Amino acid sequence: MTKQSHAFQAEVAQLLHLVTHSLYSNKEIFLRELISNASDACDKLRFEALADTSLYGEQPELRVRIAFDKAARTLTVTDTGIGMSQDEAVAHLGTIAKSGTREFMARLSGDQKADAQLIGQFGVGFYSGFIVADRITVESRRAGLPPEQGVRWTSDGSGAFEVEAITRAERGTSVTLHLREDALEYADGWRIKELINKYSDHIALPIQMEGEQWEEGKEEGQPGQMVKTGEWETVNQATALWTRPKKDISDEQYTQFYEQIAHDWQPPLAWTHNRVEGATEYTQLLYLPSHAPFDLWDREKKAGVKLYVRRVFIMDEAEQLLPRYLRFVKGVIDSADLPLNVSRELLQESRDVRAIREGNTRRVLGLLEDLAKAPAAATPAPTADDAAVTDVQDKNEAQAGDKYATFWREFGAVLKEGLGEDAGNRERIARLLRYASTTSDRASVTLDDYKARMKEGQKAIYYITADSLAAAKGSPQLELFKKKGIEVLLMTDRVDEWSLSFLREFDGTPLQSVAKGAVDLGDLQDAAEKKAAEEAAEAVKPLIEHLKEALKDSVEDVRVTTRLVDSPACLVVKDAGMSLQLERLMRQAGQ
Ligand code: ADP
Ligand code: MG
Repeated sequence: MTKQSHAFQAEVAQLLHLVTHSLYSNKEIFLRELISNASDACDKLRFEALADTSLYGEQPELRVRIAFDKAARTLTVTDTGIGMSQDEAVAHLGTIAKSGTREFMARLSGDQKADAQLIGQFGVGFYSGFIVADRITVESRRAGLPPEQGVRWTSDGSGAFEVEAITRAERGTSVTLHLREDALEYADGWRIKELINKYSDHIALPIQMEGEQWEEGKEEGQPGQMVKTGEWETVNQATALWTRPKKDISDEQYTQFYEQIAHDWQPPLAWTHNRVEGATEYTQLLYLPSHAPFDLWDREKKAGVKLYVRRVFIMDEAEQLLPRYLRFVKGVIDSADLPLNVSRELLQESRDVRAIREGNTRRVLGLLEDLAKAPAAATPAPTADDAAVTDVQDKNEAQAGDKYATFWREFGAVLKEGLGEDAGNRERIARLLRYASTTSDRASVTLDDYKARMKEGQKAIYYITADSLAAAKGSPQLELFKKKGIEVLLMTDRVDEWSLSFLREFDGTPLQSVAKGAVDLGDLQDAAEKKAAEEAAEAVKPLIEHLKEALKDSVEDVRVTTRLVDSPACLVVKDAGMSLQLERLMRQAGQ
């Protein structure tokens, strides 16, 4: 078959331009991306082979080999993974299926460090090869296809790529980079080992390089040189990090592992690593990222936890392992009990999975409580499951308060969804909430703080919802509360209204919106004030009747209020009604 030329999808061409022009000062990430693809390809083969072992063919070994040729100026990454058919090569290396790409490009800031971090997150990894190469050749053969159905893909990364059929003896893929003049440093054994060590040590797959040894010059005066020995040596740790004892794992290693699995090059905020024993046995290694991903609010957003069964990778994005309101958590679960051929459908019904999910939820909430340094009363008694956990370690002592503030800024609005989603943990979640209030502009007030500051005779926790802090603070509905010195929580997240409909009371005290119904301050209103109000009401009765008539198509009722101090009038919602804020949101959404 002859060569076929294909144009890159427009987005890819644009992306390539950006990648090569804006990321050149962060060249080295290309190797991490290629190794990560090789590792994914091996995971995919291992998974498909669970149903069909013949896919291994003659080659049972899964591994990655990195070779370089100084004279030819090439670097080649070869794996024995799933490989690609010709159609797959065209589809996967010529288009970008992910909708996040546009978002990626919109987010490029011109700051190379920040931009480089985006690359992995948005899955544009393969194309990063063009940062260091002026031509890339990929040769591949999909597992299960005969040798004649191999494919060669090649491109100089400008507008197009070519594919042709080849015969390829081995299954899997090799990616050869023809290095640019200014990237020749990567055709060097030490440099490559350094990068593997830095980025890919914990890939649970051997990464091998050909051994080299020094050979003296044969004759007097002739310089010596490094020559290849022909022996392949494994240069990474190649063990799954989570299976190692905690005491043998450094913080740096935990952080590196996070970077690999989360594709996030900013260190995590905290993590928790436990082996849980008992009825359901599993290992959990869960991380809290330090910043929100771009697609946190995407309804299709996938969960961040990978599922392994006895160290065999089963699936990414195992959404059954954590509730949706903890979707920002990244990590690995390795189950000792699930069958290897477990499917997503099966996961939904599995008792073990339910136990793991509950255990994970408890553990993450516990981690958050540690970060928040919740008061002693807020710490729940250990449960049976917790007691079975051996050797717990949570790395959060330092600046826990700051870390919680960071967590809250990035993910607080997501955690609030838990009030509605997870009735069983509502108490615990409620204690983790932080709000701004009339005494604090920062979202730092806990419901416990609020209760401790309640005025004598105050019967409810008061709050107001609005689009912004300024709008909340300027609301006429707060006037009376200000005058009385009663604190009001100021809520500005879209989810506040909805989530609070599930939190009717906290620790025995009802929550009450100041914008709903007649605010009854009860004992906080003195007798003289009440009397004055009644007299006033009597005096303006004719006016009220007049207003009711004039506004009868727009409002349900008009009444005299004591809630205002400076403003002449305000709108309120009847008790059971939708709040003004919710109504505004619904109108925005076109309802
Ligand atoms: P991502 O890894 O996030 O999917 P990449 O740009 O790194 O994005 O890779 C694009 C796609 O190309 C992969 O999803 C995969 O289908 C294919 N691919 C890349 N490298 C390999 C490989 N070594 N073996 C098999 N498929 C690969
Ligand atoms: Mg990739």
